Amino acid sequence: MIAYYRHGAAASARVARYQKYRALRLSLDLRIGIHTSTAGSIERSAIKAHELGANTFQIFSSSPRMWRAKPPDPAQVHLLKRERERHDLKPLVVHDSYLINLASADPVIRQRSIEAFTGEIERSLVIGAEYLVAHPGNYKDLTLEQGLLNVAEGLAKSWRAADSALKRGAALTILLENTAGARNQLGADFGDLATLRTLAGPYLDIPIGYCLDTCHCYVSGRDISTEAGLAAFIREADDSLGLDHVPVIHANDAKTALGSHLDRHAHIGAGYIGKEGFRRILSHPRLRDKAFILETPVDKPGDDLRNVTALKELVPFPNKRLTTTESKRSGTSGGRTIRRST
Ligand SMILES: [Zn+2]
Ligand SMILES: [Zn+2]
Repeated sequence: MIAYYRHGAAASARVARYQKYRALRLSLDLRIGIHTSTAGSIERSAIKAHELGANTFQIFSSSPRMWRAKPPDPAQVHLLKRERERHDLKPLVVHDSYLINLASADPVIRQRSIEAFTGEIERSLVIGAEYLVAHPGNYKDLTLEQGLLNVAEGLAKSWRAADSALKRGAALTILLENTAGARNQLGADFGDLATLRTLAGPYLDIPIGYCLDTCHCYVSGRDISTEAGLAAFIREADDSLGLDHVPVIHANDAKTALGSHLDRHAHIGAGYIGKEGFRRILSHPRLRDKAFILETPVDKPGDDLRNVTALKELVPFPNKRLTTTESKRSGTSGGRTIRRST
């Protein structure tokens, strides 16, 4: 009886050790990052991301509120690539300009948007970004079907117009982002996102996937703050989009209520999704291979570091890659080291 008990205890200790090892292995590659500024020079964004303890990041490749954009400076691109390699910063995500609306009913705006999106694709290729995140657009004065057709056509035209030498052998994927679903805004419905990929993706040989924003999921009516709601969201995303086509998650807490359709990002833990919600999201086995990128507000200096740290502290096991960066920093600048969350 005693022998049997001992054997059982040893076995369960082994199982526990194995489970811990497996969880650790899974978390080693976890990617956590933040949108950083390219002000001054593009490579500054990578340096900043590293300083914040991130191992992935997002940028705008030009001013998000201006139609005109300059091509990236080759010297800066070279430095950006060097910084990314030096600090193992991947993937690099570019977010498209807020002015672009491929769905627009106005032919002038639509044409401008196609030209601007062609520029977004080309700059992303030059920079060496893995992903270009795009908002589907607003179909005001049109039917939903016409809006979707406009976007699919706009994606196809932009991709075709982009420099073919740049496209050759490139590993860029356009990611359609889900939205808060305000009036006439496309993309809150996963079915619509899937339709866009079907219309413009593999059929036309355009690499298209999806980026899911946690705040947009919540305010568009998916209660991912609860265990059951998160499970329902995972099922829905997998059924409609296929989780394999979702490499990037925008990790933002939600400042406004469930179903409000208002796009207001909150600091991690300070919104409706909450710390427990994010702990479940970060430890969900189906999301482990995604890049989590913060787009949280910087209301006061240090908010960016606080949000990256808050997210990292919610990872169920310490992430080696992230810990190294952080502990190196903590010696010199008093940064916080990661504690295993309980
Ligand atoms: Zn976005
Ligand atoms: Zn948003």
